[in-house]
Amino acid sequence: MFNLILFGPPGSGKGTQSDSIVEKYGLVHLSTGNLLREEIAQKTPLGLEAKSFMDKGQLVPDEVVIGMVDSYFDKHKDAKGFLFDGFPRTVAQAVALDNLLDLKKTSINTVLALDVSEEELVKRLLNRGKTSGRSDDTNEEVIRKRFAVYSKETTPVAKHYKAENKFISIKGEGAVEEIFESISGEVDKLI
Ligand code: ADP
Repeated sequence: MFNLILFGPPGSGKGTQSDSIVEKYGLVHLSTGNLLREEIAQKTPLGLEAKSFMDKGQLVPDEVVIGMVDSYFDKHKDAKGFLFDGFPRTVAQAVALDNLLDLKKTSINTVLALDVSEEELVKRLLNRGKTSGRSDDTNEEVIRKRFAVYSKETTPVAKHYKAENKFISIKGEGAVEEIFESISGEVDKLI
């Protein structure tokens, strides 16, 4: 299996790049944000619980997210690899992911981190908010809160993978195609 984490703050382009990556390399896309929004759309108990956190820019509790990832694995038993997008977002999630992959006799091959300045990120998110229907993208206060949470809870995840020499930074500003070429260049070296 080839397992890739696309890492980076809200608005860094993970979703956009994920579409091209899964198409080119035949990986299964696992976006916890998308899975949570599906739960919300279907008004499941999990979705209702998650919504209250997401609307405030807070993280959904680890056990909820990890449970969701576990059942996604069950549904994709013959995947030739996964692209993780928006997960893991805490060190506890990273440890849980390592353990779940261990059970499948596989592991994370690499973490590609999209590097974008905060001013550019706010601009992109407010812009996305105009068309995406995502309420967490229309309020600048919620956006700033997500950055604060990212810096406190999610940056330590980078350290976790740096310690294993699996962390690569990629310039996340510029043309979408250019960024995809940088990503492909790194993946091609490893796959
Ligand atoms: P963005 O990267 O723009 O924040 P996502 O779709 O990845 O968009 O996430 C939207 C929201 O969903 C987050 O702000 C958070 O509340 C929740 N969420 C998504 N993934 C996770 C996760 N792995 N752990 C906890 N909460 C999550």
